[in-house]
Amino acid sequence: MNLIYMDHHATTPLDAEVLAAMMPALTSEYGNPSSNTHAYGHAARYMVDSARAQVAQLVGAPRPDDIIFTSGATEADNLALKGIAHAKDYMPARNIVTLAIEHKAVLDAARRLQKENVEIRFAAIDPYGVVDLDDLAAKIDKNTILISIQTANSEIGTIQPIREIGVIAKKHGVPFHTDAVQALGRYEIDVMRDHIDMLSISAHKMYGPKGIGALYVRRGLKLTPIIDGGGHERNMRSGTLNVPGIVGLGKAAEIAKRDLKSESERLLKLRNRLEDGILRRIEHVRINGHPTNRLPNNLNVAFAYVEGESLILACRGVALSSGSACTSTSLQSSYVLKAINVPDFLAHGSLRFGLGKSNSEEHVDIVLDLLEKGVRRLREMSPLYDMAKEGVSIESAHFSRHARGK
Ligand SMILES: *Cc1c(COP(=O)(O)O)cnc(C)c1O
Repeated sequence: MNLIYMDHHATTPLDAEVLAAMMPALTSEYGNPSSNTHAYGHAARYMVDSARAQVAQLVGAPRPDDIIFTSGATEADNLALKGIAHAKDYMPARNIVTLAIEHKAVLDAARRLQKENVEIRFAAIDPYGVVDLDDLAAKIDKNTILISIQTANSEIGTIQPIREIGVIAKKHGVPFHTDAVQALGRYEIDVMRDHIDMLSISAHKMYGPKGIGALYVRRGLKLTPIIDGGGHERNMRSGTLNVPGIVGLGKAAEIAKRDLKSESERLLKLRNRLEDGILRRIEHVRINGHPTNRLPNNLNVAFAYVEGESLILACRGVALSSGSACTSTSLQSSYVLKAINVPDFLAHGSLRFGLGKSNSEEHVDIVLDLLEKGVRRLREMSPLYDMAKEGVSIESAHFSRHARGK
């Protein structure tokens, strides 16, 4: 495969250093960390303990034991929401405050809890996807059992004011969970500074292996487990530990912390080169998401009068996503773009660029050439594009839609 990979929000390649660190756990060191009667078990326990400390350091957790290993961030998000809801099921009324643009792992876990009479409240967001802090505070009451707000969005890259949310949560005495999957290694986060009570982590979004993740849980917070069994992970997640995966997650966390500053600066330069190039070379485009409060590796662009899928085909040799990977099999436009009021005709022409370690300036320049040619060719065939020539700008179309209260 000689592709340029620009889909690092969906997953990332395994770092060679991470693979090397995992090898002993995949071969000779096959002990079960719960076996404490022999050296195989002790070696495995030591590897798990080291990885736990590495993950704790990445997020600023005060104790390694605050890290609960899971099968990934989907499970971590489920454990955060269901674990709290079930621990509080003695309450006659419960509600969770979250955002309409959360990852499906949060939204669908919340929807499941609605069947158990947990009310879901969506705090308002602005057209960039940033939470309205006043509305958030207004949605909290004595029955609020959790605030779950992502650190950064996987489609539009918008970063939330995490510390301010943490302060509000603390003031109201409500636990605060954040899905930090997309931010880790790209944007600094610290559970103590930002008053975060739970934080979801996935290894494969930061150059680690798939099928492993973690939930940071502040000491003293009670969660009811989803998976019962041998009482592993402080009774919050039973099951024999995935030692190779955990070692890989630990190494990936160490590297993410080590390279955070240099890599996020490098990604920002690449992203700006891509963004500036698109804006300079292609007409009738708009950026979805926040202009500056955005992950350094993310760019989400609406190309008016073009179908996103067709543009991806035109960019043969580049691995890209239109909208969200999870919904791209259906023809529905992305729920995230809908939630920030991007009109359908722009949402259908939107592409998500997810830059990462494998990308260079050369890649960006190749993609810019392909985009410029592809957009020109597709628009030549588009009857809608005639609208543009007649003077209907995408902005006026967009704002007349807003004016109609849509
Ligand atoms: C990928 C992703 C998840 C799911 O993580 P898995 O480890 O693949 O289960 C959750 N939240 C966000 C924001 C993601 O990007």
